[in-house]
Amino acid sequence: MLNVINHIPPELLSCQATELYDLLPGPTLIHLPGKRPEPLFVSALLHGNETTGFVAIQELLNKYRQQALPRSLSLFIGNVSAARFGKRRLENQVDYNRVWPHPGFSHDSLESKMMQQVVDEMRHRKVFVSIDIHNNTGLNPHYGCVNRLDHKFFHLATLFSRTVIYFILPKGVQSQAMAQLCPAVTVECGQPSNFSGVTHALQYLESCLNLAALPDHPVAKHDMDLFHTVATVKVRHDVRFSFHDQHADLLFRQDLDQYNFNELNTGTSFGKMHITEPPFCVSNEAGEEVVDQYFTVENGEVKTLCPVMPSMLTTQEDIIRKDCLCYLMERFPLEAL
Ligand SMILES: [Zn+2]
Repeated sequence: MLNVINHIPPELLSCQATELYDLLPGPTLIHLPGKRPEPLFVSALLHGNETTGFVAIQELLNKYRQQALPRSLSLFIGNVSAARFGKRRLENQVDYNRVWPHPGFSHDSLESKMMQQVVDEMRHRKVFVSIDIHNNTGLNPHYGCVNRLDHKFFHLATLFSRTVIYFILPKGVQSQAMAQLCPAVTVECGQPSNFSGVTHALQYLESCLNLAALPDHPVAKHDMDLFHTVATVKVRHDVRFSFHDQHADLLFRQDLDQYNFNELNTGTSFGKMHITEPPFCVSNEAGEEVVDQYFTVENGEVKTLCPVMPSMLTTQEDIIRKDCLCYLMERFPLEAL
């Protein structure tokens, strides 16, 4: 399933993400030599509609067309067939950022075998640093995510943004798999339509390409806001939700994504309810159902039961169904590191 090449097809430098299927037979790993041999590994389009990483890579390659790369570069262009249709994934596909190797993981899909192959290849090449580039759909700041509490990882993430999220769920994400090999980060570059995400991602890739090493002393406290994901919120399958339909079981606030990265007080409403049971499944890091800790239904509204800070809230109904409604976060005390 994995296509591995050692050159850039010339058309790749200018094509749209929707046209990649014409150039590449499928998910493709591209190895390019540079002055320092241990490669920077960059993945893009693990979600086919999240184009910022791919466009930033194009800009980077165009910039270095006539000069040697400061460091070898390995690029993984992920879900080419979903990118063709501007979709996160196709209906019959697994999520390309949930099938990377992790403890207890099974190789039952072609995609998970492919991700294992990518990891093995990058281990063999002594990968220097790994960056996975994503977009999201709601109003979110640009931020980096790490899966390890490690100074090198924090330095890598804060080169992108002072806002850093530490999480261990969901499993099977690229940055968690690559963290076994090298400092690894997922960067969230806002909405794909916003070009400032490309500019930011490009600057970041260039900084990382030019890095000789990552320091292993702590990041200065005033340079990082570290948050910890404590729970994942999904809408229950039997609940009909909407942002417009007054008769739906759950009518979300239309400005729900304004809550992202805001510390919400107890009693903050997410929307109006026509049913009495909490409409969400909330799982903590141990995978336990903890909805009663976080949400209640009161006077026909679903409300928070404690102070929380959400991320990744979106108003796109298909994303909420396919992925999740949001993550809940707490500030991580840097003194504890
Ligand atoms: Zn994504």
